[in-house]
Order: sequence, then C-alpha cells, then structure tokens
Amino acid sequence: MKEKIKFARMVSVLLTLALLGAGFIAHPAEAQSQITSPEKFFGFQLGSDRHIARWDKIVEYYKLLAKESDKIKVADMGPTTMGNPFLLVIISSPTNLAKLERLREINVKIGDPRGLSEQDVKKMVGEGRAVICQSMSLHATEIGGIQMAPELAFDLLARGDEETQRILDNVIFLLVPSFNPDGAIMVADWYQKTLGTEYEGSGLPWLYHKYVGHDNNRDAFQTNMIESQYMAKILFTDWIPQAYLDHHHMGSYGARIYVPPYAEPIRPLADPLVWREMSWYGAHIAYKEEEAGLSGIINMSQYSGWGHFGFHWITPFHNIAGMLTESASAKLATPLYIDPSQLQGGARGLPTYAEQTNFPAPWPGGWWRLRDIVERQKVSAWALLDLAARNKETVLWNAYLKAKRQTERGAQGKPAAYVIPAVQHDPLTAVKLVNKLLVQGIEVKQAPKGFTAADGMTYPSGSYFIPLAQPKMGLIRYLLGRTFYPDNDWTRAKDGSPMRPYDMATDTMFEFMGVRVDPLNNVVKGDFPKLAAPVPAVGKVTRGAVGYMFDGRLNDSFKAASLLIGKGVPVRRIDKPGDGFRPGDFYVATGQEAVIAEVARQTGVDFAALESEVKQANHDVKRLRVGMYQRYSGGNMDEGWTRFLLEQFSLPYTTLMDAEIKKGVLNAKYDVIILPDDSTAMITGERSVVSGGERSRPMSPVPPEYRSGIGNEGVEALKAFVQKGGTLVTLGQATGFAIERFGLPIRNALANLSSKQFWCPGSTLKVKFENSHPLAYGMPVDGLAVFMGNSPAFEITPTDYNERYETIVTYADRDLLQSGWLIGEENLAKKAGMIAAKYGEGTVVLVGFRTQHRAQTHATFKLLFNALIR
Ligand SMILES: [Zn+2]
Repeated sequence: MKEKIKFARMVSVLLTLALLGAGFIAHPAEAQSQITSPEKFFGFQLGSDRHIARWDKIVEYYKLLAKESDKIKVADMGPTTMGNPFLLVIISSPTNLAKLERLREINVKIGDPRGLSEQDVKKMVGEGRAVICQSMSLHATEIGGIQMAPELAFDLLARGDEETQRILDNVIFLLVPSFNPDGAIMVADWYQKTLGTEYEGSGLPWLYHKYVGHDNNRDAFQTNMIESQYMAKILFTDWIPQAYLDHHHMGSYGARIYVPPYAEPIRPLADPLVWREMSWYGAHIAYKEEEAGLSGIINMSQYSGWGHFGFHWITPFHNIAGMLTESASAKLATPLYIDPSQLQGGARGLPTYAEQTNFPAPWPGGWWRLRDIVERQKVSAWALLDLAARNKETVLWNAYLKAKRQTERGAQGKPAAYVIPAVQHDPLTAVKLVNKLLVQGIEVKQAPKGFTAADGMTYPSGSYFIPLAQPKMGLIRYLLGRTFYPDNDWTRAKDGSPMRPYDMATDTMFEFMGVRVDPLNNVVKGDFPKLAAPVPAVGKVTRGAVGYMFDGRLNDSFKAASLLIGKGVPVRRIDKPGDGFRPGDFYVATGQEAVIAEVARQTGVDFAALESEVKQANHDVKRLRVGMYQRYSGGNMDEGWTRFLLEQFSLPYTTLMDAEIKKGVLNAKYDVIILPDDSTAMITGERSVVSGGERSRPMSPVPPEYRSGIGNEGVEALKAFVQKGGTLVTLGQATGFAIERFGLPIRNALANLSSKQFWCPGSTLKVKFENSHPLAYGMPVDGLAVFMGNSPAFEITPTDYNERYETIVTYADRDLLQSGWLIGEENLAKKAGMIAAKYGEGTVVLVGFRTQHRAQTHATFKLLFNALIR
C-alpha cells in the first residue's frame, strides 16, 4: 500500500517525556484528571439503552484522547470504500511509543527470524514488547465492539493501577476501533431513523458495506476491499502481532458470549503452539469473565477451528493466535427480553443449555442489553492484554519458535516449493495472484532466467518461485496447493449425514483464479531475487499495418474492450479459429494510437501487431446495456460482489430495483439483466425475510418502502423482456427462478437428493468448456476448475425443440473433485453447469456454479463477461 501511516500530532507530551527521560514514573493520578471520559464526551454511557455513538464522533474522541494522553497514537490508514477514515489506534507506555518504529522492527524480525542466531533473538525478546491486535465490529450490525472500545481505551489511559501499568509497559496494543466504518455509520443512522417507531432495532434493509456486507470477513485471503487491505497491512506485513482478537455478535438464544478457543475440527498445517495459545488466552479470558461475575460464558464451542479464510481464521497460518469473541445480540441498542424457556443448546459443543465444563454459569434469561455485551467484551479484550503483559517474554519467544518451526517444516516437507510459470492461460491474472500473495506477506521470488526443476520440468524466465521454507508455510499450502476438507466424525452427524463447514470447503486461491501453479518436491538451486514490490502490469503496444490484436483469454481484455468502446473506438471479435486467432480474440484498427496506449497502460493488456486484413469470421463488439437487480431484505451480498466486479473491469451497469422491473418496457433501457444468486421466493417477494439460521433472532419487519420482491408483474415483465430479445443472466440459485417461472424444460438434477447422496459445500470441480460458443470465448476446453457451493446442475428435458438449449459448461465424467469436499459425484458427472436457453427472441443464461463468487473466482469471470461484451 502506498499510504504512509500518519500519526496524529501529539500535544502536551513534552513534560511527561522529560519526566520519563529523567527516570520518573508517569503520574497516573495527574494524567487521569486531564482525560475526558467517554460518558462525558458522548453524553451517555456507551452501550446504554437506545444510544449508539456514531463513527464521526468516535473518531473525534480518539483524536481527543491523543491530545490528552501520551500513551496513545491515532493513525489514519486512509479512506474507506465510501471515504470515511479508517483508524489504527496504538496504545502503550510513552517510553514504548517513543521508540515505536524500533519495537515494530524487532517484532517483525521475531516473526521471520531467518538468518538470526538464537542469541540475537534472545536479545530481541528482552527488548521487544508483546504486540496484540483487536478489531471491532467488522460486521457493522454487531455493534458491541465499536461501542466498547472507547471505554477500553479510556481505562488503559486513565486507570493508572498496577495491572494497567503492566499492560502499557509490556504490550503494544493495536486497536482497530472499527473494521467497517462505512457500515457503522449506516447502522447508527438506520437505528436513529427507526428509534421510537415500531421498527426500532430492526435490521438494515441493505448491505452494511457498499459492496460486500457480511462477506467482508471472507475477503482476508483475496483482499479485494480497501478495508481488508488496511487490515492485511497491519496484521500481515507491518506488525505480525502475536495475537489477534476480533469482536463479533451471534444469535440471541444461546450462550451470552463465546470466547476462544475454537471447537473441532481444526485446520491442520499451523504450528501447534498457535492452537495452544488460543486455548491459553481463551482460558484466561473465560476465567476473568467468571471472576467478574458475568454469566453465560462459553468457550471451545460453536465456532470450529476450520472456518473460512477470514481474518481471525487466516491469522493462525500467519503464526498469529487468531481468535474471536461472539456476543449474543440484542436489537442493536434496544434491549431484548428472553424468556428462560427460550434459551437453548444444540450448537457444536453445547448439546443442551445446561452447566458443563466450558459453560459453568448459564445465563438465566431476562432482559439482554447492549451494555451487557459491552461489559463482557471489555473483560475479554482486557484479559487478552493482561495475559500477554504478564507473559511478555514467553509470548515473544514462542512467536520466534512458531516462525522457526514452520520454516523448518517447509524446508523438510513435500512439496518444498511452488512455481507459478510465466506462461499461463491468463498471465495478467497470474500477476494478480502474485500480488495478492505479497499482500499476505508471503515471500515470492522471480527467476531472472529460465530454469529446470529436479523432476525435469523447465520454466521460462520471469516464472515465480515460492519456497515453503518460510514462516507462512501453512498459509502458502492452502492458497497454492490442493486442499481436502476432512470427512470424519467431526464433520458427520450421528446418522452419517455431512455437516456443513462453517463456510466453504476450500480456499485454494490458485484454482479460484485459474492460475497454473506447480508443486515441486525439491527446491531449485539458484539465487532468485525476492520481489520487493507488487508486480506492475503495463501492456505493450506493437503497431501493425492494419491494426492491433488483443488476447480474448485475458480477463483484462474485456476491460480493455469496454474502455475502447467507451471512447468510441470500434472493437471487433474473432468467431472462428485459424490464422493465429482463437475465437474470442479482439482487434482494433490503427488510427487511435493515443487511446490504445492509454488503455494498454490502464489494463496491462498487450496490443500485438495486426499486419493484414482479418479473413476469419468476426463481428462488431457491443458493450451491452446491463441492469443489475438489487433487492432489500438486508441486501444480497452476491449482488454487491457482482457490482464490485463489474466496476473493477470497467463494465457499466445500472442498478435495477423492484419498482422499475414491475413497470415493464425493460427492453427500452436494457439488453441484459442480471439476477444474482438468490432464491425464487426472495426474488418474487413471496418470502421477504432472510432465515437467520439456528438460534438467530428472525429479522424484524422493516418499513413498507423497504420490503422487496418483484411480484407477479415483475415476473411477467422479465418474461416480456426476454421474449422481445433481451438476455436474462441468472446466477446460482437464481437459475431456479428462471426454470420455474419461465417454464424452461430444464431440471436441477441435484434438487431431490439428500445430503448423504450429494454434498458439495464450496469446492472446485473439473468441467469442460464449450469454448466455440460465444459465452465461453476465451476459456480453455478443460484444465480450469469451477467453484460450486451446493449449486444446481442441469439436465435438459426432451422436447421437440432441444436445439434451443445449448450446454456451455459440462461437469467431467469422473474424478471431479479438485479441492474441497464432494460426496456422490456420480450425481453430478456429465451434468450441465451452464446453459443458454432460447426464450422467444431472447436468451436465458443459467449459470449454476459460482462463476463470480465473491469476486474471487477469476477463472470463470469470462463466462459472465461474455454475456455483457459481445
Ligand atoms: Zn460477525
């Protein structure tokens, strides 16, 4: 990241520093009197009924604390997606803050001790400080953390007792007061708007982030969002803290707060110490909660150690004890009454709501308030700092051990390295993968000349080489190597039916992105230089006699085509192979050199010389008018991700909501309408409440203007749109809407199977692409996996007009599983994954698998892009 951390100017610290320099201990009693309490500043006790402090006021408060105290620095990491400040607050003793950069360097070295002697490390452990990071309210409706943290900061600055002093002396506390400031503002404003009405405490009708809502925690390994990039910079490269605790909320009817460690199963390949640390910190946290007389504390339950690769779950593979707390939710700041009979067990590790070792004091029921959440979270947050402060040297020494042992495992294990060959189906996407690895703080080397691996494979110059003998070995294995989710007693119910993983069954970034990565069992000898900065992608332009050709296999070529068309440059596309062309390749004529040079610079796409007139069949490319369907009911994350994706590739769209669809005459404004992944009932509005899952409070009703669904008129309007020549692109579950409501002779072959018969909870699978079809232009025939999360797969029912239904993607006939978990592959083998169905004059495109899942599955973006640029 380019952003330099700017520390807010500190005022009135000179005297204190002078005293410290002279060997005096700080005078907490004096400091205390100068520090404004949150209650005084905000005008209410944080967490009190019907009060939510807004982010702008919270920012002001931290800045005030930085003026009043020399134990706190406030850094603005930069603007969020919507332009609000993203803060990092650093709290420690004035002495530590005065040499913060030196302490940071020590910490990073301990986290990657290659080349250091044990003696060096011992010295650093003596000089260093434990670094602990905690972040608040990543999920913006889970407001406990963001409301709690100002009080935590105030206590650290003002309490002045021995315990506090020990924390300040021994710990550098990295406090992220809001992981999602944009969402925090939306939620505070929504609460204010509904306060005192019958909708008070109801959920936000739209996503609590411009693009991704709740999925922001699923972004840690691909870091598409700017907020994720700031957190990655703090956690993975700048600091590498020893522990990270992320504060969340859960459903309302079980335990009051979950604290570490995780339940079974865990994800292997981390250093064992990291799992023991989570138990150690978690035990202290739970112990301190009981000491404070707070009931309803549970640990080692509900949240399995194998989760998604979000921030608290990916950090263990960075050798950071990555943990979360989950508090029972109230109705935002409105209390929720819970009858004792409503309290229930049934979660992983809590079969019944009753005393057990990890839950010795069940909460009895009654009123549940935001203040109860704030208090429990504050005890958790403090306990983590306290334990680290009491054991600073152990914590730092073990940080060294984790990094050293993971490096040794990487050196001894197989594979010993991965190679990302310079020659790729889509080399620009391979560069994006490399740059994403750098964001994780993974060491990547690049071969200045070609080399031959021990198994005889040769690789051209420019290929990337990632040795596993480095501290983040476990992380590299999951991002670049095939992964199989466990199928055992922890993942099957008593009756043998599989239990859903917490999220997806794999996070194999190389497969998601369609980048060829080769595991090598032997390290290649040779002195390859490390990449010190992100790899730039600047396209080369070579002028030909008649024009320029650009490669239809590159995702970024769609961006290039869109930008060119937007600037009035005609673009053409090849339809038949031959003469050095593949179907889907693009070309432009000479005459617009300045525009082409600019587009090459912006996209990284090479424009190759075209020396003679194109004889292959080709056509004029159109950038179609795209309507992107958006609904309320909490928003649809797949819609948000799709919007984000289209913007990344400069593909224009218009957001299309219920009222406009119901009005009809859609062809006047749109050529293509996209229905993102959603159930039929949610699209039509027959069901307008998202199921919150077990133990969740159902979503409360929202004001009528935010109830959504296209209704029967909308269904008829969409049918008319396609009949008159429009294209309806349906993604994931939304394919079911088209099949059912349009009466297509297509069925979901997986619809009536039990989970024991078929199960694919987020896996990469082998398929064949019909790449002579315009919707699959630029795809290979095979070799790229699709991502499937219990998605539909299709069979075409025989009719007299079978020619109207074209299969674009077909599942392989055997050995389908690339990574993840798959049961009953025979039910999926040879079925269609994507179909183009004629309907009247137009087309319904059905994409069953997750072609643009969380903007992570670059391998299959083109299957969507081809419907928009053609
Ligand atoms: Zn959460």
